[in-house]
Amino acid sequence: MEINLISDTVTKPTQGMLEAMFKAEVGDDVFKQDPTVNKLERFTAEMFGKEAALFFPSGTMANQTAIKIHTRPGDEVICDKWSHIFLYEGGGVAANSGVSCHLVDGKRGKISANQVKSVINDPEFYHAPITRLVSLENTTNKGGGACYAMEDLQQIKQVCQDYNLKYHLDGARLWNALVAKNQHPKDFGNLFDTISVCLSKGLGAPVGSVLVGSAEDMKKAMRIRKLFGGNMRQSGYLAAAGLYALQNNIGRLSQDHQKAKELGAVISKKQWVAEVAPIETNIVIFTLQPYVDEKLFIEKLKQKNILISSMGQGKLRMVTHMDYRSVMHDYVLEVLEKMQ
Ligand SMILES: *Cc1c(COP(=O)(O)O)cnc(C)c1O
Repeated sequence: MEINLISDTVTKPTQGMLEAMFKAEVGDDVFKQDPTVNKLERFTAEMFGKEAALFFPSGTMANQTAIKIHTRPGDEVICDKWSHIFLYEGGGVAANSGVSCHLVDGKRGKISANQVKSVINDPEFYHAPITRLVSLENTTNKGGGACYAMEDLQQIKQVCQDYNLKYHLDGARLWNALVAKNQHPKDFGNLFDTISVCLSKGLGAPVGSVLVGSAEDMKKAMRIRKLFGGNMRQSGYLAAAGLYALQNNIGRLSQDHQKAKELGAVISKKQWVAEVAPIETNIVIFTLQPYVDEKLFIEKLKQKNILISSMGQGKLRMVTHMDYRSVMHDYVLEVLEKMQ
C-alpha cells in the first residue's frame, strides 16, 4: 500500500465518478455541441453567479487565459512572490501575454490592500509599465493552504475599483477555502472579474479546470483557449467527472482538513521539527531542525511507503486528499510518532 501525500492531484476517480463518465452524453465541444461540457459550464457559472464559464484542460491554461484577457503586452500584474502564476506556470505570463509580475512580499502567499496600493504605477508616468491586473491565490499553494478573510478580499477589490484594475482569482483550491471558512461561491463571483477553479485537485476529477467570468470575457477566453491549443472534442467524458465532483465531493473536504490538522499536531511535538506552518486546509508545511538531513528524512518515509515532497529551503510538504483514507492516516500518524 503506497500512501501518496505529495499532492491532492494524485487521486483517481471513484466508482461513482467513473459511472458518471461512462454514461456521459457527449458531442464535439469545439462546435459547442457537447451537452455535458455545456452543462458543467452553466453549472459552474451559476454557482459563482457569473454570466459564463469555460472548461479547460488545466488550471495553468485557465489562469494564463485570464491574464491574457485582462492585459496587453507591456502591462504589469500585481501578485504575491509565491504565486503559482509567477513560480509554476513556466514563465507563461511573459511568454503568452508579454506582461511582467510586480511581486508583493505577502504573508503565507496572501497580500493586503495596502500592499497592492503601494505598488500601483501612476498611469501618467509613461516610463513605468501600466498596472492592469491584481491576481490573488486562494487557498495559497506555496503559502501552505492559507485562506483570505472576505473583508481582505473586499478591501483589495476597492483598490481595484479606485485604480481601474482588473481582479483575477487563482482558485485552484478555492473549494477548500469555501469549506474551511464557510464562505459562499457567489460572494467570490461578486468580487472578481474572473476566477479559475480546479476540478482535479481536492475534488478528485482526473482532469479539468473551469474559468468563470462575464459573457464578454468568456467569449475572449474561447479565442485564447483556441490559440493555446486547448480545445477538446468529446470532452464531456471529462466534464461529467467534473460535474460529479462539484455535486458530491466539496463537503467531504472537511475530512481532509481534519486529517491535515492531526498530522500537524503529531509533527509539532517531535524533536526533529523546527516549525509547522499554521494549518488551515489540507496542506501541511513543516521545517526540519538543521541537523536533520532532508533527503534522508524523505527517504526514510519512502521506505515505509509514505511519499512526501520537498519545497526547497528546508520546507517539506504533505497534502491530504480523497484517496488518503483513514486506515492510511492512522498508519502515517503512528510512523511519524515513532520517528526519532
Ligand atoms: C495546481 C494549481 C494550479 C493549476 O495547475 P494545473 O496543474 O495546471 O492544473 C494553479 N494555481 C494553483 C495555486 C495551483 O495549486
